[in-house]
Amino acid sequence: MDNKTMNEENTKEVKSLNFIQQIIEEDLKNNVNDGRVHTRFPPEPNGYLHIGHAKAICLNFSLAQQYQGKCNLRFDDTNPVKEDTEYVDSIMEDIKWLGFKWDGDPYYTSDYFEQLYDWAVKLIKDGKAYVDDQSAAVIAEQKGTPTTPGTESPFRNRSVEENLDLFARMRAGEFQNGEKVLRAKIDMASPNMHMRDPLMYRILHAHHHRTGDAWCIYPMYDYAHGESDYLEGITHSICTLEFEVHRPLYEWFVSNITDTEYQPKQREFARLNLSYTVMSKRKLLQLVTEKHVSGWDDPRMPTISGFRRRGYTPESIRNFADTIGVAKRNNVIDVSLLEHCIREDLNKTAPRVMAVLDPVKLVLTNYPEGQEEFLSIENNPEDPESGTREIPFSRELYIEREDFMEDAPKKFFRMTPGREVRLKAGYIVMCEKAVKDADGNITEIHCTYDPLTKSGSGTEESKRKVKGTLHWVSARHAAKAEVRIYDRLFNDEAPDSHKEKDFLEFINEDSLQILDNCYVEPSLKNSKAEDHFQFTRLGYFSTDKDTTTDRLIFNRTVSLKDSWAKAKK
Ligand code: ATP
Ligand code: MG
Repeated sequence: MDNKTMNEENTKEVKSLNFIQQIIEEDLKNNVNDGRVHTRFPPEPNGYLHIGHAKAICLNFSLAQQYQGKCNLRFDDTNPVKEDTEYVDSIMEDIKWLGFKWDGDPYYTSDYFEQLYDWAVKLIKDGKAYVDDQSAAVIAEQKGTPTTPGTESPFRNRSVEENLDLFARMRAGEFQNGEKVLRAKIDMASPNMHMRDPLMYRILHAHHHRTGDAWCIYPMYDYAHGESDYLEGITHSICTLEFEVHRPLYEWFVSNITDTEYQPKQREFARLNLSYTVMSKRKLLQLVTEKHVSGWDDPRMPTISGFRRRGYTPESIRNFADTIGVAKRNNVIDVSLLEHCIREDLNKTAPRVMAVLDPVKLVLTNYPEGQEEFLSIENNPEDPESGTREIPFSRELYIEREDFMEDAPKKFFRMTPGREVRLKAGYIVMCEKAVKDADGNITEIHCTYDPLTKSGSGTEESKRKVKGTLHWVSARHAAKAEVRIYDRLFNDEAPDSHKEKDFLEFINEDSLQILDNCYVEPSLKNSKAEDHFQFTRLGYFSTDKDTTTDRLIFNRTVSLKDSWAKAKK
């Protein structure tokens, strides 16, 4: 770290700007790039975006907003074998969903292939690039180690004419994959391994999702990345720490193709790591292709689309990104912090509704058969604007099986024979008995209700306090539903950090529990994908995208409280 950056970090407390904001403000003060702030988010379209990308997105787009600048979306699509338009589309959808807008149309590195080729020719002409006939394995062997210098290739001193001829023939398709590469001629003894004559082009007879079959040589990411930033006029190229060692190479390429004063300035921040989560796209792809999950948008995936399907909100993810901030040192964030941000947001916005996940029938023996009434209930006590709605009540209801206990201890404040509880927004009921089948399973619970205790009716009796309040739905009116309860996908805090064990060995076999005999209040019959609810006493839930009017499906977004924190104590 240079002195300047250190000072910037030290003054963080005072200014409460993150170190990148401090750099930008300093640049603005010095009128660097005429005061322009231009960032970009540069994904490689080889997978769906994950929560780590969300951090980078929030950072880049928010900086542009904050400093009246611009933020590009650029697809760094230099590897045709792994890329696909499905990924391009999902990336655009996810960024929009997060609430950000890129400047103009998306950019593609593949649009620069011709320009990058021309610059490669220029570097050859200047004696700064050469064609190497050796195999990738041999080249790797000659790289040396961080402490021993590399070995120069026997092809390093080819003439400019020969290099130009070979490079043109590489492009023309005269050679097979792997037969030749173009390398930058820098320094095989450089202490920075990335500067030891890195590859610029490889031969790949592969179809590209945008350029089709026009090319059979493709630029390496390291050759294309810095120049793409340069072409777009990016002022602050913000990326994760692992690219810090690539920075001299990006600068070498840009300064050897142009002599303009302007150059993109790269700054590195610590990538987001989350406990109980893997975040490499390669591993996420493996979870999908090997069917450990139902797809990229499986609600257990740390992808943006998975979180969306699970019921996370864009606000909560943005708020999470803000809370964790940007640092210069790698660390691991506890996944419960993310869950906390979700709860905080949903607590303010999610309507409260009633659902019973493990139903047992409750019969009010003194309530007239065939009678129904509608009870008024608050939509969200946290939101004064949200108003009330009416829910149906009748003689036969469902309550949660675990809310009844036959021989209950004194402190059991739910339903047990001889004690009273309140049915939420309804009446106080006295539990009489449980009815059982021949095997001793409880099939019904019988209660009597006290008609004078109706909630909100204003009578003295209605104000009577009882210890427990239970949620319920009216059996006749309720809609049947499937509810999916998710747990963490891995039962290890750092599943991909074990040297001897593969991350797949830590998959939590109980991460999905499907409850297919649930009942929800009738207002949920018309709910749509990504609607959010708090199921009273149960947690936050969201309507799944596969829901239909015939088959209602809800995902549990997050429990009401952090049960893991409790378990750890
Ligand atoms: P992965 O390692 O998951 O495959 P990647 O870095 O190869 O991710 P890219 O598509 O190249 O994926 O990433 C686009 C941008 O997102 C890059 O600027 C990268 O630095 C940033 N990014 C990727 N992962 C994280 C993370 N965990 N935290 C913060 N930013 C990230
Ligand atoms: Mg990458």
